[in-house]
Amino acid sequence: MNTTGIVYRPPFEANSLLLQVTTGCSHNKCTFCYMYHDVPFTMCPLEQVEADLDEAALFRPDVKRVFLEHGDPFTMPAERLLKIAELIHQKLPKVETIAMYASIQNIRRKTDAELRRLRDAGINGLDIGVESGLDEALTMMNKGHTAKESIEQLLRLKKARYDFTLNIILGCGGAELWRENAEATAVMINAVQPRQIFTGTLHAEPGCRLYGEMQSGAFRECTFRELLDEQELLLSRLELDECYYFSSHPSNVMPMQGWLPKHKQDMLEAVREMRAYLTYRLDEIPARGGEGSILNRE
Ligand code: SF4
Repeated sequence: MNTTGIVYRPPFEANSLLLQVTTGCSHNKCTFCYMYHDVPFTMCPLEQVEADLDEAALFRPDVKRVFLEHGDPFTMPAERLLKIAELIHQKLPKVETIAMYASIQNIRRKTDAELRRLRDAGINGLDIGVESGLDEALTMMNKGHTAKESIEQLLRLKKARYDFTLNIILGCGGAELWRENAEATAVMINAVQPRQIFTGTLHAEPGCRLYGEMQSGAFRECTFRELLDEQELLLSRLELDECYYFSSHPSNVMPMQGWLPKHKQDMLEAVREMRAYLTYRLDEIPARGGEGSILNRE
């Protein structure tokens, strides 16, 4: 298979066939993100996609789910996505779902009719980096969308029968706005009732704009206490019919997963236990390793 740049995927796509159809990210301006800073956005030639599918048909002919790469393949015009879906079904006839990362801008640029046609072609399970429901935090991260736009576009997706995962970043309002971030993010999530939420905490690598702001003190990171308080407040405010809460990213203070609302009280209790466990570290800012993994939790 052809690949350009590092390939990222959500943990729950571990068994999916990863198929590169774009390189980089069409936005590539989020202040915390370094993933594609040296990879220009391009659409891969369809001949290359077809050759990769021919190869996949030899070693994974029974695959049921394909995950398109890289950062936001849903940015492609609907006609191109439909052509890729057609090639996938032709070469891998057992595929049921074609998933990928998507942004709010990607959805906004598609008509309702296009969204329906793409869904009918098997595209579903979009993984969407909304990050927050607080406009101040979204502006700070340079996400290119507002909370109101997130709600509008996600409701359009729901109307077109899509399931989706929302990526949420705890701590993205910094130490000053952790409470407002939790409250506003809960309002946004409750309004759209996603199938799954995937959480991480804010971190930045050298080279990102946000890293410089953290170093200069212009942006004050959350402590362990603030991150746990924010997680507890967010969980307590979520009113969801049926949603999987998945926080396995290494940047989380604690790994946690379960169904909401069924496991809500258990998860809240786990946050309180973690707060008690970290009593002597609560006012420290987490030290970070690769992918924001927390190094000083023990
Ligand atoms: S966080 Fe997502 S949308 Fe933002 S620059 Fe990175 S890949 Fe692109």
